[in-house]
Amino acid sequence: MWSSPPATWLLYGFIASVLGFFWYRSKVKKEAIDESDSEAAQKSIKADPDFDLQSSISSLPDALILLGAQWQLRWANQTACDWFGINLAQSTDHPVWQVMNIPGFVDYLSKKEFGDSFDCQAPADTNVRLGIRIVPYRENQFLLQGRDITKIGQLEQIRRDFVANASHELRTPLSILYGYLEMMRDEPVESIGSQWKPAIEQMFTQTERIKQIIDDMMLLSRLEQVDTDLHHEFHPMAPLMHNACKDAEALSVNKGHIVECQIDENYSLLCDAEEIRSLITNLISNAVRYTPDNGTIEIRWKVDLVGGYLSVIDTGIGIEEKNIPRLTERFYRTDPARSKAAGGTGLGLAIVNHIVNRHQAKLIIRSKVESGSEFMVHFPSESIRADHEQVNLLLK
Ligand code: ADP
Repeated sequence: MWSSPPATWLLYGFIASVLGFFWYRSKVKKEAIDESDSEAAQKSIKADPDFDLQSSISSLPDALILLGAQWQLRWANQTACDWFGINLAQSTDHPVWQVMNIPGFVDYLSKKEFGDSFDCQAPADTNVRLGIRIVPYRENQFLLQGRDITKIGQLEQIRRDFVANASHELRTPLSILYGYLEMMRDEPVESIGSQWKPAIEQMFTQTERIKQIIDDMMLLSRLEQVDTDLHHEFHPMAPLMHNACKDAEALSVNKGHIVECQIDENYSLLCDAEEIRSLITNLISNAVRYTPDNGTIEIRWKVDLVGGYLSVIDTGIGIEEKNIPRLTERFYRTDPARSKAAGGTGLGLAIVNHIVNRHQAKLIIRSKVESGSEFMVHFPSESIRADHEQVNLLLK
């Protein structure tokens, strides 16, 4: 292969140089054409007496508002004025949260987590649902962009209704099937025939699984309903956590796990107690299912000045880092066969995530394969109340 005479190599070299020369010339020419095209476009825009950038932006279908460093309203296009009910003559230089007066908007601005959008009803047009985003602009300025997401919201609602109705409709026939199979399973072998016994046992197990999935889907649908059914009150956390520890011990009994509990007494959490119970149950049941025999499960409730931390830590199989961001998606499993064998529905962490969001909390997942996992829920300090005993102790 390397034995070609030098003349052949010279010929190849010459052909390559000629091709290279033509490629380079055509590239330079194309760039020159592109450049002159864009210059020409700029010139023609400048020369066009009818072109006015501000009025072009004004007629965009999205709302655009220019904000100062202290959120003062500097300018807004027509769509923004229509949706937010802004009168530019009166509102310019006033704080935008005052001008727009949308519940929750001040919190959104002060958190400065602008990767997330803020969804709300348009104050001046209740038929329009808006997705608001803030983008840093030049030095110390911001651009607020509002987009009409009414259609997306309607489609989401159709999807939610479908899942809720389908699960509800499936529940009744399934309960009947489940009841009969349970009865047949308990019958002595002689009366149903030995050849049917394993089949009935399997049908019963699978029906139980479907029932569990439907229950989880119904719970998810309920959690997805927009904030109208939030029942948040202060609930003492210690009794709830002690019960969770007892449940963990009961679930772990066959696997020989060590269950350790560290609970800060005398703090209440502003929450829906039922939802928090469901959140803990899901985290504990995962820890038990994904921790091999004789491992350790730690359950913690800690409070400091920044808030309350509810953690479930295990020495289980762990999760690969690349999978962590997707764990809260419905039916996402890192190992589907293992999850099904362990009796999982694939909806547990999606339920946890919904409950976390409904409590303005944050879910933090840390894990290392073969070492274990930590699922921590951080509740903001506004949701924590020190109970009287604690206050009295501090005063002594
Ligand atoms: P499942 O019912 O499959 O457990 P979940 O939504 O509760 O569904 O969890 C999603 C996936 O996250 C699981 O299938 C499993 O792969 C992984 N997972 C959850 N908790 C743990 C844990 N404590 N240790 C290891 N993997 C876990």
